[in-house]
Amino acid sequence: MILYLFIDSQTRIDSPLFLKKYSQEDLLYYADVGFGYPNKIKKWDQTIRVSIAGSCSRQDSAEVAKVVDELSRIIAFPKVVLTKEEGNVQVHFPDSEPEFESIKTAEGLGVEVRGFVDPTSSLFTNKMKQVKIYLSPLLKNRKRNAVLRHEFCHALGLSGHSKRYYYEEHLMGRLNIPSLESAELLDSSPAVIPAADVRALQLLYEREMPTGLKRSTFKAHLAELGIQLQ
Ligand SMILES: [Zn+2]
Repeated sequence: MILYLFIDSQTRIDSPLFLKKYSQEDLLYYADVGFGYPNKIKKWDQTIRVSIAGSCSRQDSAEVAKVVDELSRIIAFPKVVLTKEEGNVQVHFPDSEPEFESIKTAEGLGVEVRGFVDPTSSLFTNKMKQVKIYLSPLLKNRKRNAVLRHEFCHALGLSGHSKRYYYEEHLMGRLNIPSLESAELLDSSPAVIPAADVRALQLLYEREMPTGLKRSTFKAHLAELGIQLQ
């Protein structure tokens, strides 16, 4: 145990130069969203097999297939596949609000939440093992599909949120919508994983990004590269 803690505290990026492929904005966003409790990188090192648990609408099942397709184009390793068998990422679409609420209460989550994940990772290696995604039946249309993608980002290991406001869609951040027209434009466009989250996922699954890396160490690497943290 003592040996493990010693090794763990030493987790660093061996050669952080690859970070320069990313813009300062990308790296700052990643510093917000790439680390969940307890402020360490968690990721998958095995094929991510996505299944739908129980029944769901044809639209929801088509949307899950679309998300799996998007994710499989974003990261090369590990593979992301859809399976009819029980996957290690299971998506639940409770069809009544009381059912959704009772699962949420059992997880001890707040009242504002319309979707959530229940992740299992190894406490010692920080590798993701299994995730359950739950989506509220109250979510409709584009918002439903965007929240589905938000939860998938959590499921892949983007465990945090960004409290900052952005002018472009960031699934794990807040959107500054300057006008009614832009709100309508967004509403009429299909939900896809936005560019900012594509880059955050790519950064997470860079071979050089070590599982278990602490947020504070990541920020120290950025400072070494001369990147100003806000
Ligand atoms: Zn979230």
